[in-house]
Amino acid sequence: MLIDGFNRNLDYLRVSVTDKCNLRCVYCMPQGGVRPLAHDEVLRNEEFVHLVGVFAGLGVSKVRFTGGEPLLRKGFMDIVSQVRAQNPSLTLGVTSNGVLLGGALSALEANGVKKLNISLDTIDRARFNRITGRDELRAVLAAIDDALSMGSFKVKINTVLFRDTMDDLDAMLDHFKDRDVTLRFIERMPFDPGRTPGKFITAVDLVRMLEERGTLERNTGIDTSVAVMYSFSYGGRHPMRVGVIPPMTHKFCGRCNRLRLTCDGLLRACLHGTREYDLKTPYRMDMGDDALKKIIADAVREKPGEHHLECAGEEDGCASLAARRQMSQIGG
Ligand code: SAM
Ligand code: SF4
Repeated sequence: MLIDGFNRNLDYLRVSVTDKCNLRCVYCMPQGGVRPLAHDEVLRNEEFVHLVGVFAGLGVSKVRFTGGEPLLRKGFMDIVSQVRAQNPSLTLGVTSNGVLLGGALSALEANGVKKLNISLDTIDRARFNRITGRDELRAVLAAIDDALSMGSFKVKINTVLFRDTMDDLDAMLDHFKDRDVTLRFIERMPFDPGRTPGKFITAVDLVRMLEERGTLERNTGIDTSVAVMYSFSYGGRHPMRVGVIPPMTHKFCGRCNRLRLTCDGLLRACLHGTREYDLKTPYRMDMGDDALKKIIADAVREKPGEHHLECAGEEDGCASLAARRQMSQIGG
């Protein structure tokens, strides 16, 4: 097991398989995209598979593939199927913007991927285009419904909290009230200052808005390490699972069980930390798994107890806190 200095069991690995994305979400990516990594800097398929195997051997039990947009990665399904074949007991998940998801669902199901987190900030087409820079809402909504109709996925919808998404709150609740999804609202983090105008919306603001629309009851039984969950009766008639992920106003670092592997082979023990541990170079130098395990053990031992992302709570008050990498480069 990977137990850190604060007695947290780090059993969850998020693997970013690409830094490329087919959307340009205002809170995540600069309009022109980020400078893509050179081909050779990015891990090859077999390198991802091997490194995931090393983590699994050390006690990681859950792996989530993310990006950029993971479904853009050439050979992505080969990575998933080999990881599955070599680690049958791993719980596998994918976080996707949903644009290419429809065409990937059967293969994901065949490889035993159970958890799908789909990012969707609005169900209004013009607003979607404004937020993401692309006219892809229909494809995303269709993929969500296809995934639900297959019956084998647990689907969570991730919505970043900001003015545009809150203007669409009623429409979102109406759309999802009869669908078997978990809605999770995420406090916007300051990864790209200056591109997300408007007041910062907090978890508490969201709770207030939900309370105006139905009965909200805390449901700790479905909390995750990052999400504060509620049973929500929308309009007093429609039971829904709704949650909030509040990295700016609340710290959930004490429950953090995550490690992150970037697509260029760097291990990050904290999303908001600046420390990265190079696994690619020793792997490519053939230094052996013991050397990799030692680096992973160092990262685990040195994982900070908490991050220091505090929100000023003002208009764009968080913008001064930009971290060094874009969210799309780390994988959220
Ligand atoms: N492209 C995929 C997607 O959008 O689901 C996977 C990568 S994306 C970086 C992972 C998650 O990070 C998404 O749910 C996205 O909404 C979230 N995210 C990106 N930028 C964010 C920000 N500034 N604050 C909060 N969440 C953010
Ligand atoms: Fe791409 Fe996901 Fe970032 Fe949007 S949130 S730009 S879909 S990586």
